[in-house]
Amino acid sequence: MNCERCGIDASLAHRDIDGFAYYLCEACIGGWDAVRSPPPAAADENRSPAR
Ligand SMILES: [Zn+2]
Repeated sequence: MNCERCGIDASLAHRDIDGFAYYLCEACIGGWDAVRSPPPAAADENRSPAR
């Protein structure tokens, strides 16, 4: 079976996203979670001062 996001042939897991059922590979599930809940490390942006 092929991942509905990236299309690779892998073992997929079922996910309900916005009311739709998707079958995604582990990489895409991890990526999707990262997109939907960005890590707090993003708040670390102000550590790069303008020189
Ligand atoms: Zn995938």
